[in-house]
Amino acid sequence: MATLLEMAVEMVKTRLASTPSSKVSNEEMMAQIRELYAQLLELSKGEEEVGNRAGSANMLGGEVLAEPSIPPKKAFKKDKVICLICGKEMKTLSRHLKAAHEMSPKEYRQKFGIDKKQPLAAKTYSENRRQMAIVRGLGENLAKARANKRKSREKGKLEKVVNNEE
Ligand SMILES: [Zn+2]
Repeated sequence: MATLLEMAVEMVKTRLASTPSSKVSNEEMMAQIRELYAQLLELSKGEEEVGNRAGSANMLGGEVLAEPSIPPKKAFKKDKVICLICGKEMKTLSRHLKAAHEMSPKEYRQKFGIDKKQPLAAKTYSENRRQMAIVRGLGENLAKARANKRKSREKGKLEKVVNNEE
C-alpha cells in the first residue's frame, strides 16, 4: 500500500499531467503536494477517529451487540463465565440467558458460535457438578450393590427356610 506522501505525489502528478498547458514551477508543485499530503493526513486521522469511536460505542452499547465484546473463548474462566451479551460474570449462564436476554442456551451457542462441548458454566462449576454426579453415581451404585447383596442374602435365607421346610 502506498504511503500518504506517495499518494499525494501521484495525485499532483496526475493533476499536472491532465493540464499540460499550464506551467508549474517546482516550488508550486511541492506546495501542492504538501497541501494534498496535509489533507490526506487529516482524512486518514478522521478515519481512525471514526474507527475508534465505533469501537468504543460497540463496547459500551451493551444490549444489541452483534459482535461479542470479548472473544467467546475468553468468556469461559475457571471460576466464572462471562455473558457475551451484557458482560456480567456468573457461575452458570443458562438461567441468566433466559431471565435477562430471553434466549435459550442453544440460541446463545448459535449466536456466538460456541461449541456444543463447551459447558455454559464456569469450569470449576461444571467440574464440581461432574464430580458430584460421579460421587452420587458411586453412592447409588454402592447402595444398589448393597441392596442386591441384601436381597440375595435374604433370598438365600428364604431359600434355606423354604428348603428346610421342605
Ligand atoms: Zn447477559
